[in-house]
Amino acid sequence: MNFSPLFGVYGAAGCGRGVMPLVRQQITGRGIATDRLVFVDDNPKAANINGHKVMSYEEFLATSADERHIVLAIANSRIRERLALCCGKDNVKSLSVIAANVVMMDEIKLGEGAILSPFVTITSNIAIGRHFHANIYSYVEHDCIIGDFVTFAPGVQCNGNIVIEDHAYVGAGAVIKQGLPGNPLVIGCGATIGMGAVVTKSVPAGATVIGNPARIMTIKDSEC
Ligand code: UDP
Repeated sequence: MNFSPLFGVYGAAGCGRGVMPLVRQQITGRGIATDRLVFVDDNPKAANINGHKVMSYEEFLATSADERHIVLAIANSRIRERLALCCGKDNVKSLSVIAANVVMMDEIKLGEGAILSPFVTITSNIAIGRHFHANIYSYVEHDCIIGDFVTFAPGVQCNGNIVIEDHAYVGAGAVIKQGLPGNPLVIGCGATIGMGAVVTKSVPAGATVIGNPARIMTIKDSEC
C-alpha cells in the first residue's frame, strides 16, 4: 500500500496540459515523486499524456493514498463548480497552483483552488474567490474584488477598483477600465467579455460584450 499523497490535474485537455508542469514543479520541490501526479479525466483520449497517467475520477479515488489533492483545470466555470462540490464530498482537497514567476504584492486574499499561470501579476489589496483561473500574462490591479469560479484567458488586463462577480469569463487580451474607489466598475455574474474587448463601463449579469468600446451582444439568464 502506498500512503503518500496523490495529486491530480482534473481535465486532460488544453487547460490541464498547461497546468500540469506547474503542479509538477510545485510537488517535486516538496520531494514528492512525479508518479504521484496524474491527470483525471472522465473522457480520456489516451492512457498517458505528456508522461503522466490518465485516470478516471473513480480510479483516482480508489488509488491508495493518505491524502488526495486536485486542481480543477477546466476552463468552463460551471463544470469547475460541479466538480468542486463532488471533490469536497469525497474529501479530496483543493490544490492551488501558482507558477514560480507569478508576482503577488500586499494584502491579497486568494480562495482555494486558484490557478495563476506564468507571468501573472496580482498587485495589492485584492480579494479573489474560489477556483479562479488567471491564464498567462494576465494581471489584476489594486483594490479589485473577484468572485468564485472566475476565468481569465491569456493577457487580461483588469485595472484598479473593479468588481468581477462569480462565473464571469474574460476573453484573451480584454482590457477593463479602472473604476473609482467606492464606485467600482462591475462585471456581473456569468458575464462574458469577448476577446480583445475594451470594457469602459459596467457589464450586466449574463451579458456578452465585444468590441472597442465594448457593447452588449446578448443577455442571457446568468444562473446567479
Ligand atoms: N472533463 C471531465 N469531466 C467533466 C467535464 C469535462 O473530465 O465533467 C474533461 C473533458 O473530458 C476534457 C476536459 O475536461 O478532457 C475539458 O476540455 P475542453 O476541451 O473542454 O477545454 P479546456 O477546459 O481544457 O480548455
